Amino acid sequence: VRDKRRSIRDKTSTSKHIPDNLLPRVAIIGRPNVGKSALFNRLVGGNRAIVVDEPGVTRDRLYGRSYWGDQEFMVIDTGGVITLSKSQAGVMEELAITTTVGMDGIPLASREAAIARMPSMIEKQAVAAVDEATVIMFIDGLVAADIEIADWLRRNYSDKRIILAVNKCESPRKGQMQALDFWSLGFSPLPISAITGTGTGELLDLVCSELRNFEGFDGVEEDENYVPAIAIVGRPNVGKSSILNALVREDRTIVSPVSGTTRDAIDTEFTTEDGQKYKLIDTAGIRRRAAVASAGSTTETLSVKRAFRAIRRSDVVALVIEAMACITEQDYKIAERIEKEGKACVIVVNKWDTIPNKNHQSTTHYEQDVREKLRILDWAPIVYCSATHDSSVDKIISAAALVEKERSRRLGTSILNQVVREAIAFKPPPRTRGGKRGRVYYTTQAAIRPPTFVFFVNDAKLFSETYRRYMEKKLRSDAGFPGTPIRLLWRSRK
Ligand code: GDP
Repeated sequence: VRDKRRSIRDKTSTSKHIPDNLLPRVAIIGRPNVGKSALFNRLVGGNRAIVVDEPGVTRDRLYGRSYWGDQEFMVIDTGGVITLSKSQAGVMEELAITTTVGMDGIPLASREAAIARMPSMIEKQAVAAVDEATVIMFIDGLVAADIEIADWLRRNYSDKRIILAVNKCESPRKGQMQALDFWSLGFSPLPISAITGTGTGELLDLVCSELRNFEGFDGVEEDENYVPAIAIVGRPNVGKSSILNALVREDRTIVSPVSGTTRDAIDTEFTTEDGQKYKLIDTAGIRRRAAVASAGSTTETLSVKRAFRAIRRSDVVALVIEAMACITEQDYKIAERIEKEGKACVIVVNKWDTIPNKNHQSTTHYEQDVREKLRILDWAPIVYCSATHDSSVDKIISAAALVEKERSRRLGTSILNQVVREAIAFKPPPRTRGGKRGRVYYTTQAAIRPPTFVFFVNDAKLFSETYRRYMEKKLRSDAGFPGTPIRLLWRSRK
């Protein structure tokens, strides 16, 4: 922990100094005596703490600068002590003003309403602190008051990211065991010890990733070592090898019109003109085994199995179908698998040159047919090409690059929650016969590849399959993600 900090200190001392009032903020809240001040001191270290007082509250907010990696932020302790000096208060005056609009620019829940519903053991200044910050909810053991605070946070601050830190977990083992109880609060608990520093590194990692989200981070996660793998799959003879050859412009594989030619699958790495590396997985090798197999149906089965293996190893799947041929059960099985494995997909209609008398409606007609038969991939773009006739295969790579980026994309927490709120306002979850209605407390993107969203709700059973599909559709129409499956997970808080 100390090393990461030291190197950063050198870095930040040379970089531009960000004024206190422009730093993102992190509020520590919890009932009295859970160790908020100990955590505050650990995060702020030797940095000067500044006190802001406000009429009508018995305790003041304590502010201090902290940093982790190259992220600087302001920590707010809501159980601070009063040691106010006038000049310090002057520096911080501006901080106290920005309480109606969060740093994501979205108006926050009305402060009055939040105060009105405030749990009794929380001080008024906590409301102001929560208004302006990403929140660490801090507890040391689960009591009724914590449930009350968690409910209050969720009810009033659905667009806030709340991190649940469980303090006094000195030994990791004890921490893990204790932390299990806290899942019931609806947040994933992180065991830490403010005194020994156990887990505070993870906590800071989490805080920083949340701050990036809150700053409207909406983009593709960069990873230099990541080489996306594109699998070219489809039934025998649709032109997979021809496509691969055209893509790498090098005769690595043998293209033959005879079905049953002996050859193996080959992975080929190549770099596009803009410097992006890809790995191509060819599944043409099915034929060697197919030749050994006796019955025709076995050939089909083997080729599907081969496709399944390639899909598993891939990031993007180019599902090749042949323009003049029908979409078969086998294509459907492959499509299903792509969705199930969470891979990005481009549907490639090859041998487009064989369609006679094409006009501008040909693609429309064809697309309707493909969409109907491969409904499970309704999010995948369709590319028309002729591997052996022109350079249209390049479109496959452009499309693959695009869908791969979507699969690696992270949506800012505030944008995500806005989309979800609007979707619910437009069409609220229907009431059950017993009169119960599903409620979404907040939503977060938990993972990429594929993008996975967790909906924290009152009771997952109250959200029907139809409603879940509606929500997925809304997410797609308002936030994109073409070419990649997305996952919506519904977690009950009970
Ligand atoms: P694979 O089994 O999917 O790898 O298919 P191949 O790449 O071996 O191609 C099967 C046959 O279709 C070969 O005779 C190719 O020359 C031919 N072929 C591939 N792509 C096209 C295309 O775009 N147009 C036409 N007319 N023929 C193609």
